[in-house]
Amino acid sequence: MEECIFCKIINGDIPSKKVYEDDVVLCFEDINPAAPVHVLVIPKKHIKNLNEMSNEDSNIIAHIFSVSRDIAKKLDIDDNGYRIVMNCGEDGGQEVEHIHFHMLGGRNLSWPPG
Ligand code: AMP
Ligand code: ZN
Repeated sequence: MEECIFCKIINGDIPSKKVYEDDVVLCFEDINPAAPVHVLVIPKKHIKNLNEMSNEDSNIIAHIFSVSRDIAKKLDIDDNGYRIVMNCGEDGGQEVEHIHFHMLGGRNLSWPPG
């Protein structure tokens, strides 16, 4: 966990462009944006991925979606729409092993993804 890049961002050891923060979550701009709006929403609690999430943590995930709704409005992508993506494990393309949700918007996103 000490080596977790997102825990380091939460702790302020690595800088980030913060979009929103509260006691439970941190939201910041993705360093390599895949869309005009690309925000990562992460819990402050280190959870590796969905496989490692306990039922007791489901309130954190619910909160993440409430926050994501508010961020969409704040960044003015709510009307045009957006996509929330969570990659899990190797086949899912998860690179950072701290659960996170990508919020993508600002252009028409193709479907299905690659
Ligand atoms: P994933 O492939 O789902 O694990 O996504 C990890 C995301 O974290 C990628 O979109 C990266 O661009 C992003 N990322 C990695 N390091 C940083 C960083 N220091 N600040 C912001 N975003 C980052
Ligand atoms: Zn972490």
